[in-house]
Amino acid sequence: MNAAKVLEDLKRRFPNEPEYHQAVEEVLGTIEEEYNKHPEFDKVNLIERLCIPDRVYQFRVTWMDDKGNIQTNMGYRVQHNNAIGPYKGGIRFHSSVNLGILKFLAFEQTFKNSLTTLPMGGGKGGSDFSPRGKSNAEVMRFCQAFMLELWRHIGPETDVPAGDIGVGGREVGYMFGMYKKLTREFSGVLTGKGREFGGSLIRPEATGYGNIYFLLEMLKTRNIDIKGKTCLVSGSGNVAQYTAEKLIELGAKVVTMSDSDGYIYDPDGIDREKLDYIMELKNLYRGRIREYAEKYGCKYVPGARPWNEKADIALPSATQNEINGDDAKALVANGVFAVSEGANMPSTPEAIRVFQDAKILYAPGKAANAGGVSVSGLEMTQNSIKLSWSQEEVDEKLKSIMKNIHEACVKYGTEPDGYINYVKGANVAGFMKVANAMMAQGIV
Ligand code: NDP
Repeated sequence: MNAAKVLEDLKRRFPNEPEYHQAVEEVLGTIEEEYNKHPEFDKVNLIERLCIPDRVYQFRVTWMDDKGNIQTNMGYRVQHNNAIGPYKGGIRFHSSVNLGILKFLAFEQTFKNSLTTLPMGGGKGGSDFSPRGKSNAEVMRFCQAFMLELWRHIGPETDVPAGDIGVGGREVGYMFGMYKKLTREFSGVLTGKGREFGGSLIRPEATGYGNIYFLLEMLKTRNIDIKGKTCLVSGSGNVAQYTAEKLIELGAKVVTMSDSDGYIYDPDGIDREKLDYIMELKNLYRGRIREYAEKYGCKYVPGARPWNEKADIALPSATQNEINGDDAKALVANGVFAVSEGANMPSTPEAIRVFQDAKILYAPGKAANAGGVSVSGLEMTQNSIKLSWSQEEVDEKLKSIMKNIHEACVKYGTEPDGYINYVKGANVAGFMKVANAMMAQGIV
């Protein structure tokens, strides 16, 4: 494989999809050496078949707002690769959603799911619909209209969506309701469901908790204790909330959280009571993080991200490309020695280079945030065997999966000087399993 040529071809065939190109470039750059040890891969053009999604569904979603106006949005489902299991990956509702972003997410998801050791292929979907400022009734009508198109392309053995940005328990519930009505079947077609109708315990917590379990494994390699460490968290949604919760439980100090309007800096640390306030503010009232600063009298910085604050550890948990090269330099200069990604691809390639050149601990989202989809996989298992496991059981399984992912990264990513290149480790480990499965299944 000539990685540069593969990338150039993809850019020519699929222009205007920069996030997709960025994700592919990062993976190709790290797997090229391993790939080229297997001439049989190139004989069947494995790399192109792995980079280009199996199929993409694209549809119009029409719904009525509370004023009686008819709104249209775009809906998508990218089914990237099902070599090791049914397509699996979240649904994102955000005004920024476009096909390129979903293709990047579905591509990443394929490697991430492979790393979890569970039988799940990769997919991703979404819409440019933004739940922000919409009433409950509007969100329900939109979710129903979205599912009216999507339902024929998914199924418990075909493609199992879940939540992502803008899609939480409420949206999954509305989509599940419509799917059930259309198919007249009660099945585990979506994960992240409510507990009363097949949802797994620990699924809401899984991505944030899993990220911290992965961070603990990284810290262990340098004999660092998390207790008392100052942490920067971005975002204030699902991933950020449970990242903060686990950090607080372990005695770390969380000093920032953010939303798309700005960030708060609380030098005393966000404690349990303050986090409860954030959860209520964001999940119940759908308010803004600025209101935290008003309530607790701390600093609020509008239109900015928290990366210039002094800390030990950074946990980006909002969105892609939220840490650029300059942010990364500021983090390293301010003493940050570990970055573990809750979000998908939050660091630009320049930022990753800064972290790796400084030899700090750096875990890409594909490894560090795989806890979410792992517990989704466990939800699928519980749905198929029609049993539910206790909180402790699921949490133990999550811990062990994150430990295994860390081990796989160490195995494939340790460099001659002992530095663990987690990007390379995650990409090579994830890639090899999918590649071997594709080889075994012939040209399909
Ligand atoms: P939520 O919608 O619950 O929260 C997203 C948070 O990020 C909100 O605080 C939101 O602010 C902020 N945000 C969203 N877009 C932007 C933006 N363009 N600029 C700045 N801030 C932004 O989503 P999740 O917590 O579920 O997802 C966060 C990240 O984690 C995403 O990258 C997602 O792909 C990834 N992830 C999620 C998993 C899951 O299980 N949910 C699993 C693995 C990865 P606001 O409130 O203003 O919208």
